[in-house]
Amino acid sequence: MPSSKTNRTELPRFGWPIQVKPEPCLPTTPEEAEAAFSANGDRSVAVRACRESFQSTSVFCLWIVYKDLLNEYAQQGWGPPPEFPTPPPFSIEPITGCGRGMVANRVIKTGETILVERPIVMHPAAVPLSPDHPRGMWGVVEDMYEVSFPHLGERERSLYMDLWNCKQLTGTLGNQLVGIARTNGLQSTFTRSKHLPHYGGVYPNISRCNHSCGPNATVKFDEEKMAMRLLANRTISAREQITISYTVLGDPCADRQDDLKTKYVFTCACKHCKPTKRSRPSRPLKHPYWNIPNQTTSDQVDVEAEIYVSDVRRDQISDRLSHAEELWEEWLSPLSKQSDRDLLQFHEDALVIIAQEGMEFTRIHDIAYLAHACAALEDEGGFRRWGNMLISLSGWSQGDEGGLQMKTWQDWVREPKTSPAWGLRVQTRGMAKGKGKA
Ligand SMILES: [Zn+2]
Repeated sequence: MPSSKTNRTELPRFGWPIQVKPEPCLPTTPEEAEAAFSANGDRSVAVRACRESFQSTSVFCLWIVYKDLLNEYAQQGWGPPPEFPTPPPFSIEPITGCGRGMVANRVIKTGETILVERPIVMHPAAVPLSPDHPRGMWGVVEDMYEVSFPHLGERERSLYMDLWNCKQLTGTLGNQLVGIARTNGLQSTFTRSKHLPHYGGVYPNISRCNHSCGPNATVKFDEEKMAMRLLANRTISAREQITISYTVLGDPCADRQDDLKTKYVFTCACKHCKPTKRSRPSRPLKHPYWNIPNQTTSDQVDVEAEIYVSDVRRDQISDRLSHAEELWEEWLSPLSKQSDRDLLQFHEDALVIIAQEGMEFTRIHDIAYLAHACAALEDEGGFRRWGNMLISLSGWSQGDEGGLQMKTWQDWVREPKTSPAWGLRVQTRGMAKGKGKA
């Protein structure tokens, strides 16, 4: 056997874990933002009226950005608006206690695109301290909004002014415009930024989606087309509200509540924060990683105990991928103590817990592991089943990179024996037996 076999278990060769571009961290304090800005020369902000082409007369978005982005993106126009499903599978309706929200008007399948939409405004998610400005750090951006807002079309202006504002008002138009942007802005990342890649975009319909800690949809921003895509994380029933997440779902309930209260002034009452039923996995879990102590057995709802269990589960979900990497390496070594089934069990249990917590957006990784584990065991049917499920999911990165990864998987599903994991576990078992005999 060639000696290069020792490197055969390295993960990147297998096209997974699915290489979603790591999101750069958003500075959380003005001081951190200041440091990020200081690192890169000119940090002044500019505004550009975004049009489809340089001949277009209508402006679809006010783009308020650090100047380093002006030469990087779409100088001649952003092209025609991206296509989306027609008729739209949703309507915007009043939701008790939550203003208006988005409601599915038919069944929406897992991975389906619900809507692709361009922003009305886009501005930096963090700004450096501006001690000279009479209205503080957001003053510079407020001034820009005030000057440029009349350039937007009438329709865009009225859609925008109709959105909710939870930020403190000083009474100026600029302050109101920035308040609406900060209340409704969805993270939109421009990765070629030298200062700070994080921007907040306000979208006419997608910004109407309410929050849930177990959201049934996810947003993905395409920086080349300047468009946000809304995708279903799981099957959404007709008349079900379409929700996204405004916070970090792996965080404990108390931290999520604090974050939502600080940023958006509301208390989340989703079923994970205010459980009214005992939440149980859909089947018993078998892999020891997912064991947790202190689970109540009574049928009565103990809210504190439910939240405790949910916090532990979310922590396990967040940590599982580094654990999965170790398990995979061990499973493929000739001295492995795991059975063929152990690795599959770990990820099958992960899917059960992920569904219980409503964190389906992250399951693409477990499904990729399951597909490759089947390939390693030379289980063609299993590989195809998980591979096809993987291809249908919504977790792929935007643009060429995601498209290329998906095509690679499609090729493997057609010819499972060309997958790089094919037979790896079967071979190492053979090696272990060989050693045993010697
Ligand atoms: Zn919640």
